[in-house]
Amino acid sequence: MSGRGEGEGKGNDNTNSSEVRKDRVVTTVEGMPINEPFATQRVGQHGPLLMQDSSLIELLAHFNRERIPERNPHAHGSGAFGYFEVTDDITDICGSAMFSEIGKRTRCLTRFSTVGGEKGSADTVRDPRGFSTKFYTEEGNLDWVYNNTPIFFIRDPAKFPHFIHTQKRNPQTNLKDPDMFWDFLTTPENQVCIHQLVILFSDRGTPASYRHMNGYSGHTYKWSNKKGDWHYVQVHIKTDQGIKNLTNEEAMRIAGENPDFCQKDLFDSIEKGNAPSWTVFIQTMTEQEAKRLPFSVFDLTKVWPHKQFPLRRVGKLVLNENPQNFFAQVEQAAFAPSNTVPYQEASADPVLQSRLFAYSDAHRYRLGPNFNQIPVNCPYASRFFHPAIRDGPMNVNGNFGAEPNYLANSKQYQFLQQERPIQQHQEVWAGPATPFHWATSPGDIDYVQARDLYRKVLARQPGQQENLAHNIGVHVAGARPDIQQRVFEMFARVDKQLAADIRKECSAASSGSELRSKL
Ligand code: NDP
Repeated sequence: MSGRGEGEGKGNDNTNSSEVRKDRVVTTVEGMPINEPFATQRVGQHGPLLMQDSSLIELLAHFNRERIPERNPHAHGSGAFGYFEVTDDITDICGSAMFSEIGKRTRCLTRFSTVGGEKGSADTVRDPRGFSTKFYTEEGNLDWVYNNTPIFFIRDPAKFPHFIHTQKRNPQTNLKDPDMFWDFLTTPENQVCIHQLVILFSDRGTPASYRHMNGYSGHTYKWSNKKGDWHYVQVHIKTDQGIKNLTNEEAMRIAGENPDFCQKDLFDSIEKGNAPSWTVFIQTMTEQEAKRLPFSVFDLTKVWPHKQFPLRRVGKLVLNENPQNFFAQVEQAAFAPSNTVPYQEASADPVLQSRLFAYSDAHRYRLGPNFNQIPVNCPYASRFFHPAIRDGPMNVNGNFGAEPNYLANSKQYQFLQQERPIQQHQEVWAGPATPFHWATSPGDIDYVQARDLYRKVLARQPGQQENLAHNIGVHVAGARPDIQQRVFEMFARVDKQLAADIRKECSAASSGSELRSKL
């Protein structure tokens, strides 16, 4: 018998050893030793199988249940363990224990992913990348559920399922559909996507590996110090390997040649001892500064200009340990922006607010309501104590034993309350319940940062403006002519030259594909 058992490291294969380990006797799931795992109970040698062969029945039945629902967005990903180390004091901004002293390390797990594709899809497709990190802190598990872009396509949470559907397959043809993608995004009330489209269709939309890209909170968060003062915060996780991207054509070629390119790159680098790292920065903003911004601090389609809100270094994220078992430790990992720790809280960003519900709910569906008991999700550096949360399927942690299933401050069952300062000068919210669709902003404000990126940032990098036009042109070439026209008009609001270049690239790509279809 050969192969690896659970928890067994690489290079421990027993095939060459003269003595097979005693714990490698194959058993039924109930622990009864099986003599011959490949034998089935039959009538005679070639007669029908017997119902009493419960070992075979369990094997087949379990095989049928191996797959769990894949995540709807972010189905395809890779992960690794490592640590976060504090390099700079930010206790004036955040009182969380993980930042308490310079040199302090917190164990963590990071999962990178694409967004729209299915679990088996290719790593190098044009798509934002998820960049989620779970920190196992002594104050509980903290999840930073970020992307590799500092902004997003939408700022109305009710649009999220619609938007994601446009990235998935056409209900009739079962094909990815450029008409769906561009029809949705060029609709006037959805054109707040323009900034994200410029990033996505720049070469940053096809990162060369997970090691060579940044992560951004995108959302505004609220962090407070131990005195109770708070700031709005955005987090930037910048790669120490340097940004490295693929061209559109390289990305497509690699997607065909090795769809698991980034998984392999990450795993192999860590195995070779070449642990990737990132430097973590924050931007901070006071409530007064936020009121002076030309846009809302809760607008997920905008960045905070670096000059006005400089980056402040916090620490280092290092990924130096590959998972031993992908399913147990990465597929079952459950990241949620609602998993937070004292002194770090969500802001009123409406997309973030809806994510606070949606992520944990996705895991309840995908992994069951006790998903926090799966080892990779357990707050092992802290402690879970809430005896009113108990029972349910797959409860495996002892279920609080004889503890009563309610809390009350009666003599017998007193519980302790943690002392924590109340934040000073809280935001004040008041108003009637109102349906609000945040479709457009006054004037040109939704186009300004997209234009800055095109005219100022990409212009500094030779060939990047041209690549942007090319990448959009070849993609939009697959859409209907009336939708193409809407794309040209939308990008003309960013820059007329950009729109003209996209049109040129689009018609070159269309005539190229006509020629190919004639061959
Ligand atoms: P800066 O000139 O100070 O910053 C420009 C930033 O753009 C760089 O620091 C880099 O961010 C990022 N960048 C460089 N090349 C690309 C690219 N091909 N695609 C996407 N981002 C790129 O200017 P501002 O802070 O005023 O921002 C100007 C524009 O830069 C914004 O409109 C926004 O589109 C983009 N940007 C801004 C970020 C911010 O937080 N201010 C973050 C990322 C992009 P990094 O160092 O993070 O890689």
